[in-house]
Amino acid sequence: MPLDLSPDQKDLQARARELARGPVSERAADVDRTEQYPWDNVTLLKEAGLLGLTIPSRYGGRDGSWLDAVLVIEALSAACAVTGRIAVETNMGAISAVMAYGSEEQKRLAADMVLAGDKPAICITEPEAGSDANAMTTRAERRGNRYVVNGRKHWITGGGVSRLHLIFARVFDAQGNEEGIGGFLAIRDETPGLRIVRREPTMGLRGIPEAEIAFEDMELPPSALVMPPRGLRKGFADLMTAYNSQRVGAATVALGIAQGAYDLALNWSEEREQFGRPINEFQGLQWKLADMSIRLAASQALVYKAARSGEGGFPDMLLAAQAKIFTAESAIQTVNDALQFFGARGYSRNVPLERMARDVRMFTIGGGTAEVLRNVVAGAILGKKLPQTRDGWTKAVGDWR
Ligand SMILES: Cc1cc2nc3c(=O)[nH]c(=O)nc-3n(C[C@H](O)[C@H](O)[C@H](O)COP(=O)(O)OP(=O)(O)OC[C@H]3O[C@@H](n4cnc5c(N)ncnc54)[C@H](O)[C@@H]3O)c2cc1C
Repeated sequence: MPLDLSPDQKDLQARARELARGPVSERAADVDRTEQYPWDNVTLLKEAGLLGLTIPSRYGGRDGSWLDAVLVIEALSAACAVTGRIAVETNMGAISAVMAYGSEEQKRLAADMVLAGDKPAICITEPEAGSDANAMTTRAERRGNRYVVNGRKHWITGGGVSRLHLIFARVFDAQGNEEGIGGFLAIRDETPGLRIVRREPTMGLRGIPEAEIAFEDMELPPSALVMPPRGLRKGFADLMTAYNSQRVGAATVALGIAQGAYDLALNWSEEREQFGRPINEFQGLQWKLADMSIRLAASQALVYKAARSGEGGFPDMLLAAQAKIFTAESAIQTVNDALQFFGARGYSRNVPLERMARDVRMFTIGGGTAEVLRNVVAGAILGKKLPQTRDGWTKAVGDWR
């Protein structure tokens, strides 16, 4: 399929593929089994210049495009989804929000940390505020020359390994008036009051912790507030436009996993013989291979289109949502089909497909569920804001998910 990649992009893709097929692939099973964050792979990515690709060069990055990051994430995720996610979160999401809206000081801090190997954490979800993120109750109260933050977040990717945190909270002025939802930067082990409570025992993606985090009288200076151009009242919606990049990144991890699974099935279908012939001579499996390849091509086209839509800004919300829904759902199907090609062997932990099947399941949930993203798609194509609350009331801070 012609993908219109530049020579530099082909070179980048080739470098990422080489790492993926070599050390990243060799370590993937161990990362899953030991549930240890793959610091060795972080070092590899750092040495290969694959961390902070999208950071502007004046902050030490490579001025890379979203598509550059996508090519790297896709290649890595075919071998190890955890490493692919690290590439997402060092190029998209929290880091891109800070690079777009942060102060000079915040940009320098975030860029330096990412380029040194830190994967920032983005803290939105709370036990009682999942899809309905506007219902968050974490508070940042202005007291003198400080904000005091109290609340609890859960399912925070990287909790316990990430140092830089972008934390969303309801902001109150010194008189106790609510000003909107704001994003604050805090650093684990340097900001007192930021406490990792526990790690979730996850189904897949086990090399990267998902954690519950408590903020207990966490004091932050006003300079920790990342202030988007439209101010605090509309700031949450602005900050969340940056999240469209993370959605494209998540879709890319799913795409990479599906590609990895398809390659395994294709090779095995030639190698494995039953009834005196390779199993890919049975039409039932040929049609499965055909369907898998169609889903992959469609997913890749959607992901690349969404990534390209963000040049000079952030990916388009509709395209990012379409790409994430389709790619995540079709990747689950593709991995499941690939596992079936292996018969009993597919059910063994000696073949990576059972890990891929666990890993890929996440992408219809995290970062906006497939159902909630369908609401985003419907709202965009109908040109209507579709309130989800029972009384039809959309809160002033905006309906972003
Ligand atoms: C592996 C993983 C990593 C994550 N990482 C992070 C992170 O780093 N930072 C962070 O802040 N969060 C993170 N999350 C949280 C994630 O964003 C939320 O899980 C997600 O937004 C859904 O919230 P919930 O789990 O509370 O589900 P709920 O909101 O309780 O939803 C339950 C079900 O109801 C459906 N539903 C809810 N509202 C609607 C509606 N209006 N229309 C139709 N269906 C609806 C949902 O689609 C879902 O099927 C992560 C989650 C996972 C699984």
